[in-house]
Amino acid sequence: MRKKLVVGNWKMNMTRSQATAAIESLLLLIDPNTDVEVAICPTYLTLETVAHLLRRSHFHYGAQNVFWMPGGAFTGNVSASMLADAGCTFCIVGHSETRGRFGKLEVPESTLSYFSETNETVNLKLKALLYQSIHPILCVGETLAEREAETTDAVIYEQLKGALDGIEGVEFYNGVVAYEPVWAIGTGKTCDSAEASRVCGFIRRALTEIFDADAADSVRILYGGSVKGSNAADLFSQPDIDGGLVGGASLDADEFSRVVRGA
Ligand code: PEP
Repeated sequence: MRKKLVVGNWKMNMTRSQATAAIESLLLLIDPNTDVEVAICPTYLTLETVAHLLRRSHFHYGAQNVFWMPGGAFTGNVSASMLADAGCTFCIVGHSETRGRFGKLEVPESTLSYFSETNETVNLKLKALLYQSIHPILCVGETLAEREAETTDAVIYEQLKGALDGIEGVEFYNGVVAYEPVWAIGTGKTCDSAEASRVCGFIRRALTEIFDADAADSVRILYGGSVKGSNAADLFSQPDIDGGLVGGASLDADEFSRVVRGA
């Protein structure tokens, strides 16, 4: 039986004092006996603050990105072994904001190459994380243009195939896949719960083909894209959705605790 998982992706938000206040509130608001696994992914700079505050709690924490090389002259980057040393349980990989796939373009097109993670670099990152026993949260999802062209399933299949190339099913047992339709991220437009569940079911069937039934059955498949307290229960009660990756709503302790209760 897969345990529900709710992950807060704080993105580029929260100073150390804001992070302290948010975690202190969450510890009061979320029932420590909940059956739901909860994780927070802060910025690298607030990881240590969050780790310290969560040290005796049931919460996990993780990072929002990683570089695949073990160390060396890679200015501005952080390796998987550094994340393991910081006690990270999870790490997000292939988020649409790091792949440079924006639903609504908020940056000049010419700057997209700064972000452009590919299926190949996502694959290298996954391997580096698995080597350090950090559970990857692999994000996949289609843009609005791809949905309108009815290529959603094909796009997601290609993202999974490329990201998981050369990885064995047994290595990915604790892995997580997050279905994040790009057009739903930070837009307030949530994917219809039945459709989100259909795509998550498609992802599990793809994992069965790429790995095997046992591995596919153990992987948690999350939905992400404008999840909030008011829609969490509907989304998370769908048969193929094992929880959520939550951006905006994770910045507000009350709202995030409602999302966790929804799970
Ligand atoms: C995300 O960043 O992964 C996300 C789903 O954001 P939001 O909840 O704000 O749509």
